[in-house]
Amino acid sequence: MSRFTLPRDLYFGRDSLSQLKTLSGKRAFVVVGGGSMRRFGFLDRATAYLNEAGMEVQLFENVEPDPSVETVMRGARAMRAFEPDWIVSIGGGSAIDAAKAMWVFYEHPRVTFQSLLEPFSFPALRAKARFVAIPSTSGTATEVTAFSVITNYQTGVKYPLADFQITPDIAIVDPALVETMPQELIAHTGMDALTHAIEAYVSTQHSPFTDPLALHAIKMIAAHLPKSYLGDLSAREQVHYAQCLAGMAFSNALLGIVHSMAHKTGAAFETGHIPHGCANAMYLPYVIEYNQRESTARERYAAIALTLNQQGESEEHLVTKLLEVIRALNKKFGIPATLWEAGVREAEFNEKIAGIAERAVGDACTGTNPRKIDIKTMERLFRCIYYGKRVDF
Ligand code: FE
Repeated sequence: MSRFTLPRDLYFGRDSLSQLKTLSGKRAFVVVGGGSMRRFGFLDRATAYLNEAGMEVQLFENVEPDPSVETVMRGARAMRAFEPDWIVSIGGGSAIDAAKAMWVFYEHPRVTFQSLLEPFSFPALRAKARFVAIPSTSGTATEVTAFSVITNYQTGVKYPLADFQITPDIAIVDPALVETMPQELIAHTGMDALTHAIEAYVSTQHSPFTDPLALHAIKMIAAHLPKSYLGDLSAREQVHYAQCLAGMAFSNALLGIVHSMAHKTGAAFETGHIPHGCANAMYLPYVIEYNQRESTARERYAAIALTLNQQGESEEHLVTKLLEVIRALNKKFGIPATLWEAGVREAEFNEKIAGIAERAVGDACTGTNPRKIDIKTMERLFRCIYYGKRVDF
């Protein structure tokens, strides 16, 4: 038996933010990240719409990037004092992820963070509140997914929480909110979304329900992301919808080792943080080279190439074409092709890579990768990425 779960309602298009005025309830608790939503007036508009709906509004601002367990607990306490019947989260992945976790501790004060680390084991939500998610970046698709990533700064570990209980009730996908995204963020988050769709399409959990969403997302991102990057706002709108389709696919089909590897290298090197989408974009071609030795995966990568109007006389040839398309996009967006190019020093790489490889194999996303991998092979794969070598094993 499999399950396919999405939000009950999805509003999209310019001014879909105004749907907030149609909610019925008494109190709305609004969770936001840094200042950009306030600066560009979206927070005031959201508050005004909720007031128009007859609701009292309480704001919880300044959720940090990579939200902490402490922020989650502080938000949950504020919710218990205010007793909202709607939780409205606006922002990039972080604010929405934090609000999802706050929601669990609001409804179930006695639940421990530790107990939530077991995937798909959450207690039932919605006895107290329902949840609206409004993304202001175009990639994580947390507005439609069953996931939330919370960081424990004491141990320095990022914990992915997963359960369909935290899939939002309503997603509002308003392209006006992503018009002001900086160029680098457009590239990184867009390539994150492309990786979501590709990994979902080849995942061992893919299904007839996730395949069309993943394929169409891939087609739309490839067509529109380069134009969005150059400032075309109608292309940016299409990417905003495409990343959401990709989210619907991967929330139900899950991901693969590109994400396992990006999760464990984001903060690993002293030369600096490798943004999530940038790491995914860099690793994706190497992982395709590795996975394509598994015949079902090869067939599926070839199908992706056909969707992108590539031609080839064999599956192998089509996979090569797909690799070319991805590498060309990366080049256009200034994404490094190797970890060496990304500035990671060789000595530090050599010193840390065995541990990183072990943690990547243990990541939650490894289980649904189409080809199995052990720690030694993972290390070899990372070495190919460091030096820009072909993956021929
Ligand atoms: Fe991602």
